[in-house]
Amino acid sequence: LTEAELDGIRAQFPILATEVHGHPLAYLDSAATAQKPLRVLDAERAFYAEANSAVHRGAHTLAADATERYEEARRTVAGHLGATEHEIVFTGNATEGLNLLATAIGHASTGRGAGADFPSHGLVEGDEIVVTELEHHANLIPWQELAARTGAILKVVPVDDDGVIEADAAADVITQRTRIVAFAHVSNATGRVSPLDALIAPARAVGALVVLDACQSAPHLELRPAELGVDAAVFSAHKVYGPNGIGVLWGRRELLDALPPHLYGGSAITTVTLEKAHFLPAPARFEPGTPRIAQAIGLAEALRFVDGIGLDRIAASEHALAARLHDGLAGMPGIRVLGGPGADGRVALASIDVDGVHAHDAGQVLDDLGIAVRVGHHCAQPLHRRLGLTASLRISAGVHTTPDEIDRALDAVSGIRSFFGVAGSAA
Ligand code: PMP
Repeated sequence: LTEAELDGIRAQFPILATEVHGHPLAYLDSAATAQKPLRVLDAERAFYAEANSAVHRGAHTLAADATERYEEARRTVAGHLGATEHEIVFTGNATEGLNLLATAIGHASTGRGAGADFPSHGLVEGDEIVVTELEHHANLIPWQELAARTGAILKVVPVDDDGVIEADAAADVITQRTRIVAFAHVSNATGRVSPLDALIAPARAVGALVVLDACQSAPHLELRPAELGVDAAVFSAHKVYGPNGIGVLWGRRELLDALPPHLYGGSAITTVTLEKAHFLPAPARFEPGTPRIAQAIGLAEALRFVDGIGLDRIAASEHALAARLHDGLAGMPGIRVLGGPGADGRVALASIDVDGVHAHDAGQVLDDLGIAVRVGHHCAQPLHRRLGLTASLRISAGVHTTPDEIDRALDAVSGIRSFFGVAGSAA
């Protein structure tokens, strides 16, 4: 991106004009949630102002307009992912998408209720679910619960001492009994792209379902889940410059058609008697109740914003930021980078441990300088435990991030240890 383009992009985000403690805000917490360009807010508002109505019901004109706008949003998401609209389920967020899959597979496993009608992906005792050691809790706990419910075994592809997935181990962890392999496309704690081939090829060889948590890739990399060879992928709109309250589950049509509903209610059924319900095909089967109409419209606008710039160009521009960030951190004494040093195979994100300083104290120093970062375990407690940490400080960039903002963060980080008088740090 040219400087003029970056200025033009920044001008679309009103919040970037905020001052914090007398400094211009440097928002370096996009991995937690992205800021929203005005056009996304306007798109949601326009729906409420012009077409607010319930969808998929009602004979009146507004209802038809609202339905068309909602389904148009679904087509936009499908186009963005290189998918068809039947493969797009709107969820509340990525967490709900992952729970949907695990819960639906759980229902299929019981052989009871609606699950009895969709048994094909049910698990039995001794089946295996594989995740990696660095997963976000949202891509761990639903599988723990599914394993507990079905007697399946949860197995883990480990990380090394730096927190990098041990790609070679995947082929041993995945066996003939493996039915599901679920992992993050990009780690929210290290920013590293996962070894896709090493995880997907052995999973496919044994016929396991491959579930991709694309939360941290969707804002930064082109995402074509079908081409990657996975069966399902989830992301949250709020990390891709879209609204809160909506996420996407993409699933291969054969998979979605073969799964029972995870929640029950209106709009998702064909006929209902007092004894039993019959369910619509996907995606309607997975969207019971009044859906998130304005949010879907806001998400579609966010994806048009991203596609208008081009994810390939966003990736190239952010890679330069990643290099600046990781080169800057690499030379700093007392700074350990989760996932090891280096910007290759990484988005513009770095989580660090500052020797002798708690992440929360370090984060406070940055906030005093107007720099917004995330501190804590980033919902990846097992990874932090493996690295002997309880918390880290995460710097993460977005499409509007400038090299100067990265430099401000680097300057601030380089002064933290002496600020707290850590022995051995420069005075
Ligand atoms: N997976 C990853 C890798 C994430 O970074 C996040 C968000 N921190 C989630 C899952 C969950 O996303 P959400 O909270 O929007 O459901």
